Amino acid sequence: MTHIYNFSAGPAVLPKEVLAQAAAEMLDWHGSGMSVMEMSHRGPEFISIYKAAERDLRELLAVPDNYKILFLQGGGLSQNAIVPMNLVGHKPQPATIDFVHTGSWSGKSIKEAAKYATVNVAASSQAGGFNRVPPQSEWKLTPGAAYLHICTNETIDGVEFDFDHGSPQPLTGDCADTLLVADMSSHILSRQIDVSKYGLIFAGAQKNIGPAGVTIVIVREDLLGKALPVCPSAFDFKLVADNESMYNTPPTYGIYIAGLVFQWLKQQGGVAEMEKRAKAKAALLYGALDADDFYINRVAPENRSRMNVPFFLKDESKNEAFLAGAKARGLLQLKGHKSVGGMRASIYNAMPIEGVQALVDYLNEFAGR
Ligand SMILES: *Cc1c(COP(=O)(O)O)cnc(C)c1O
Repeated sequence: MTHIYNFSAGPAVLPKEVLAQAAAEMLDWHGSGMSVMEMSHRGPEFISIYKAAERDLRELLAVPDNYKILFLQGGGLSQNAIVPMNLVGHKPQPATIDFVHTGSWSGKSIKEAAKYATVNVAASSQAGGFNRVPPQSEWKLTPGAAYLHICTNETIDGVEFDFDHGSPQPLTGDCADTLLVADMSSHILSRQIDVSKYGLIFAGAQKNIGPAGVTIVIVREDLLGKALPVCPSAFDFKLVADNESMYNTPPTYGIYIAGLVFQWLKQQGGVAEMEKRAKAKAALLYGALDADDFYINRVAPENRSRMNVPFFLKDESKNEAFLAGAKARGLLQLKGHKSVGGMRASIYNAMPIEGVQALVDYLNEFAGR
């Protein structure tokens, strides 16, 4: 196999060092004679793996002590139901949930939440084709809402909240104490965040953390214990938290790989270093896309995602030739999401800048520059 770079949006590239370590430990983890896959989730070996993963993630994101970190099954999408079931009980029923609609994933969250609450779309960029995050001054929030849901990086539309320039700000006025809930599935650990601004953060693992099957929830402790009666016990955050994610069997092997990724991140310099690299990689790639009008990306510059970069060829009849040429050079999984077409390059933490450079070289060559 020639050297390849994998630009998949998810499941996505993992650090080579992590895969190599997992391979070396596959049959016999640390002299235990067992594969991690074969261990009881209640045994001392797996408990040590779990505790290290939890501790390292807490350190990487500077998660305050009054927040629980849960490792669940079900994927990011399941949280669209599980989060409302756990949080709306803090308000008289039917409660309202506010949303900012910035693309496909927040759209799915809105649809699912409507089963459990009254939904208010406080702001939407749908009319413009999801090419920006509506400015916070335009959000029409509901006083007394159970919470406000945002998707801080829209994986399909390539739209990311511009935290560097103050978004999201602390909420003000009648809505000053509205809880903020964020779906960070596709950019968690790629930029520094202030966890204390959020009531709850969730992320499916298969974009920027590890294999599919692990879902991470970071939730403020005082929000536990109000799950609706219909909430499945295995997804009642209080039960899960009280049992350190072992109320039922957690996705053990996925947690082990996620833990190796957390160790790798720490060795690389942590989230601050990942943010620095993400800025450099994104600048390189958008620079090539913007060089002339051969390629098109319509997202407002301040909201361009550093993780997921969708783009179109101006002449779409060249799409197949573009993808075939990319594949021949070992640049894989560049086809855009079926709902938007075109191309998409996902450049998560595990994508080295050499991979982005290889893509940029190809973009320039294909454009005849
Ligand atoms: C991938 C993704 C999800 C859904 O993940 P599943 O694990 O497939 O349920 C949710 N939100 C965002 C932002 C995503 O990128």
